[in-house]
Amino acid sequence: MVKKSGKSKSAKKYVYFFGNGKAEGKASMKDLLGGKGANLAEMSSIGVPVPAGFTISTDVCEYYYKHGKKKPSVLQKQIDDNIKKLEKSMGAKLGDPKNPLLVSVRSGAAVSMPGMMDTVLNLGINDEVVEGLIAKTKNERMGWDSYRRFINMFGDVCMGVDHDYFEEALSKIKKKYKKKLDTELTASELKEVVEAYKKVYKKYVGKNFPTDAKVQLGHAVNAVIGSWNIDRAIAYRRINKLLGLKGTAVNVQAMAYGNMGDNSGTGVAFTRNPANGENEFYGEYLINAQGEDVVAGIRTPELLSKLKKQMPKIYKQLNDIRIKLEKHYKDMQDVEFTIQEGKLYMLQTRTGKRTGMAAVKIAVDMVKEGLIDDKTALQRIEGDHLNQLLFPIFDPKAKTAAVSAKKCVAKGLPAGPGAAYGAVCFTADDAVKVAKTGKKVILVRKETSPEDVSGMWAAEAILTSTGGMTSHAAVVARGWGKCCVVGCGVLEINNAKKQIEVGGKIIKNHEFISVDGTSGEVILGAVATSASPVVLGIIDGNKKAANHPFCKMFKEIMKWSDKYRKINVRTNADSPKDAANAIAFGAEGIGLTRTEHMFFEGDRIWAIREMILASDLAGREKALKKLLPYQRKDFEGIFKAMKGFPVTIRLLDPPLHEFLPNDDSGQKEMAKRLKTTAALVKTKVASLHEMNPMLGHRGCRLSITYPEICRMQVTAIIEAACNVAKNKIKVLPEIMIPLIGTKQEYDILEEVVRKTADAVIKARKSKIKYMVGTMMEIPRATLVADTVAEKAEFFSFGTNDLTQMTFGYSRDDIGSFLPEYLDAKVLNVDPFASIDQEGVGQLVKCGLELGRKTRKDLKVGVCGEHGGDPDSVKFFAGIGLNYVSCSPFRVPIAKLAAAQAALA
Ligand code: ADP
Ligand code: MG
Ligand code: MG
Repeated sequence: MVKKSGKSKSAKKYVYFFGNGKAEGKASMKDLLGGKGANLAEMSSIGVPVPAGFTISTDVCEYYYKHGKKKPSVLQKQIDDNIKKLEKSMGAKLGDPKNPLLVSVRSGAAVSMPGMMDTVLNLGINDEVVEGLIAKTKNERMGWDSYRRFINMFGDVCMGVDHDYFEEALSKIKKKYKKKLDTELTASELKEVVEAYKKVYKKYVGKNFPTDAKVQLGHAVNAVIGSWNIDRAIAYRRINKLLGLKGTAVNVQAMAYGNMGDNSGTGVAFTRNPANGENEFYGEYLINAQGEDVVAGIRTPELLSKLKKQMPKIYKQLNDIRIKLEKHYKDMQDVEFTIQEGKLYMLQTRTGKRTGMAAVKIAVDMVKEGLIDDKTALQRIEGDHLNQLLFPIFDPKAKTAAVSAKKCVAKGLPAGPGAAYGAVCFTADDAVKVAKTGKKVILVRKETSPEDVSGMWAAEAILTSTGGMTSHAAVVARGWGKCCVVGCGVLEINNAKKQIEVGGKIIKNHEFISVDGTSGEVILGAVATSASPVVLGIIDGNKKAANHPFCKMFKEIMKWSDKYRKINVRTNADSPKDAANAIAFGAEGIGLTRTEHMFFEGDRIWAIREMILASDLAGREKALKKLLPYQRKDFEGIFKAMKGFPVTIRLLDPPLHEFLPNDDSGQKEMAKRLKTTAALVKTKVASLHEMNPMLGHRGCRLSITYPEICRMQVTAIIEAACNVAKNKIKVLPEIMIPLIGTKQEYDILEEVVRKTADAVIKARKSKIKYMVGTMMEIPRATLVADTVAEKAEFFSFGTNDLTQMTFGYSRDDIGSFLPEYLDAKVLNVDPFASIDQEGVGQLVKCGLELGRKTRKDLKVGVCGEHGGDPDSVKFFAGIGLNYVSCSPFRVPIAKLAAAQAALA
């Protein structure tokens, strides 16, 4: 019952309370409350112990950036009301020295961004409050410890004082009292730290830090909102393609103190193992610590299995919550908890990041356990996850050899999948720089922080000497599916000298090392990597590998994908081997065979050069005759491998000069072989030179000028088909004319193709069927597709060229401006990697619709790189294409994406 009183409209609600087994929000409100806030609310209402608090919605952040960094006017009152509610619920008061309430101020957007935005703990403390806190908790050490942490975090997060300045002050005092760990400092020593920190604060901020709790809170809320647009947060969102978010929410929550002594502590855990997916409780904790300590990797934490012995009751309670959360969320959770004097509090839950292996195992296991169905399982697995199962592992022989040569020098925690080698780099910047030169690099750090993100991205693997499985490095690497080893304590990393000392050995800057993300081993030198069990089992037909659990799970997922997907998945393959690989992965035909690749092998190049050099038709036909048997043989191989699936073969596409040598010595060699003069070869090369070969004499334009090339290729295709069909193998050639822009171009060549093909079929008395169609890659063709479809039986969208010509970006030169374009948000993604749905995608849609208007059963597919990109596949499935075609190793990903499109 809402009573409408004097005011016409009640103020918009910006703040949502949670606590005492109730909440105003719920898990589904992530867009508004952020993931953290929504799940704190959800946990509160399902009876998980959560310290009470409230969430300031993402609307505020959005408003703030839309209104010149101003917050809504009604906000302060809502915050004040919620503070009162919180104080009542906790029986303590913010800023009250007699009975103080301390809070944390935490960021949290709709999508989790580990370590990207900052949190302030113990807010509300000052010189009087600390005494009150000590009196209330009867714990002097905890009081001063909380205070010094607060000054540090507040100074760092809210005022931009470099954390290192505080570290320096702390180190000095630790040195003075000969203490190694923070936990060894006594109350009076910590009190000294507080005094030192106050000085640091004053020195760098220019005034004393604010003692009023409400003022502190105001600064902290602003800082969280401000952190949404700091560089590293923006970079993280860009790298992870997190677009269209409103902003961050701000959570204000009563503190749970993990720093009250040996019966307190804090930790993070996964409801299943995030590295390999095993159904086991996996986590880490620190006794007598506050949350930040675990994530920052300051001390190396203990494994949860130890907590079971140390605090069996807490462990049991935690494990019960683990099961409850999995049943409730029906997915693996990543949780934060704090133990305050033997009492457990949950501080966060979210869907846990996992390696590809773990994602696949958890999804398949949860179906078996009856937690989810196969449809849900398919939606849980990302293309990249599946891809990780196809990642290399170390070549077993090379690795054994390296180990017996005592090259394995260290072992850390296996935090991210795969195997990698590269040159050691000690800074993120150097990693980026060296990687740009095309060299593989391994980023080696004591610990990583969000500033290192771009270097981590550039590296093949990340190696750290401190921190656990939930440290920044581990979480970020796992999210990306990157090889990562953390907590490798025996490495003495010397950043000044740019070297690592380990077991009496020195590893110098840019020397090669190898990192095993599955075992945690660090090996000197570059160890060769080899294919995954899935690849061995499926592609190479290795029986033992085929029984590998991952191979079986992979097959299960493919089975489910096939059950639900509606569009076909073909492959782009130029050789019988590629075709066979793709078939093993379940490809349903070839969407693109590029015939010109066949011309470069062995002696064939000489025949094509002879043809180009020939001055008349007879000369060209003579040379082409030499090529014919090669092409026929290739096609036979491909037809056999494809076992009756359709095979789209594209007629010659590149400009002829691509087959000619440009340098003097090459031209001399050609002259000698073809019994002519170097001068003549040079003249020919010069005459074929084009200002803009991409838009030059290529594609169908070639076959219109030289129909004999088209005739030779069609003869080879159809003869091969007849030969294979004779052995009772079904064949279905689809002959594709490239690069047409007009109906006339298509019609002229279609006639050449049909005449040639029918003549061969007649001569062979064969019954094979074939189709003729065209590649749609010139914008004009998509606009006149209705007329082209009068004769064309199929369209295949060549989205690489279509993207190139629609944007007017050269695919080979886009690197020179793409990074800036992405930074400035001119583009959100590389349009050659993921289809530009708004522009190029519309041309595809237009061509498809016009084509089908003329020919209802027009077969339409896509054969650009986009056929293996999950987002693009979903788009193509949505507009009603018959198939996508991609490289053999992307076939599984395309199938999964196609199923996800059908289930969406
Ligand atoms: P992040 O998103 O970087 O994980 P969080 O807001 O989750 O940041 O907080 C950082 C750390 O502080 C976590 O370990 C968290 O558990 C801890 N923390 C946050 N709020 C509280 C609280 N009210 N009481 C105790 N610990 C807290
Ligand atoms: Mg957290
Ligand atoms: Mg093309």
